[in-house]
Amino acid sequence: MRKGSIPENLNSVTERIVTACRSCDRQADSVTLLAVSKTRPAADLRVAYDAGQRHFGENYLQEALEKQAELKDCDIIWHFIGPLQSNKTRDVAEHFHWMHSLERLKIARRLSEQRPADLPPLNVCLQVNIDNEDSKSGVSPEKLPALAAAVAALPNLRLRGLMAIPAPRGETEDQRTPFIQLSRLLDELKSQLPDQPLDTLSMGMSGDMEAAIFSGSTIVRIGTDIFGARK
Ligand SMILES: *Cc1c(COP(=O)(O)O)cnc(C)c1O
Repeated sequence: MRKGSIPENLNSVTERIVTACRSCDRQADSVTLLAVSKTRPAADLRVAYDAGQRHFGENYLQEALEKQAELKDCDIIWHFIGPLQSNKTRDVAEHFHWMHSLERLKIARRLSEQRPADLPPLNVCLQVNIDNEDSKSGVSPEKLPALAAAVAALPNLRLRGLMAIPAPRGETEDQRTPFIQLSRLLDELKSQLPDQPLDTLSMGMSGDMEAAIFSGSTIVRIGTDIFGARK
């Protein structure tokens, strides 16, 4: 993608979302654009915010907390999308609206215990290791039903859905395969846990956003195509 200003890039990513939705008969507002701002200074987030962006995703806790302090005056919905150690759960419980990368019950219990009583429950997605890669984070599809049932029982979490980062694939057709699998896993969870608000598929990044939307994504996590290449 041509590198433009942040507002220009936000416009063209939004146009791509609209086009992708149209091509598969989905409503454009059924997909939320999450701006992934890891490694970007708070000033870049503010430019995106001033252009109307409200959902921001961060991977590194310390960095995220510093930006949150600088952007206190902004009405931002903060999503934590990176790996989380169990001794860092309190910061996520206290300072985020969403956690996409939940993969262990121990972390889930701590987040629920540490969620402040004056905040609504933390929205969580379970990260699935959809390609069963040794190197990748996420619960295996086999262990997903048990983890989901346990997380759904925690009082201060709202189990919203699933997240995945598939192994890179070149062709759009191939890119759809893991996303369709994740979408099927969510359908299975919905019948397993009919009382849960399971409405979220967090899937699709700069390189595979269209394939993800075609396969039912409700949150696309876009960094590079908004803020430019990371160092
Ligand atoms: C960095 C990151 C993204 C954004 O990736 P881009 O290819 O820059 O759009 C999305 N999701 C997660 C979990 C990430 O770590």
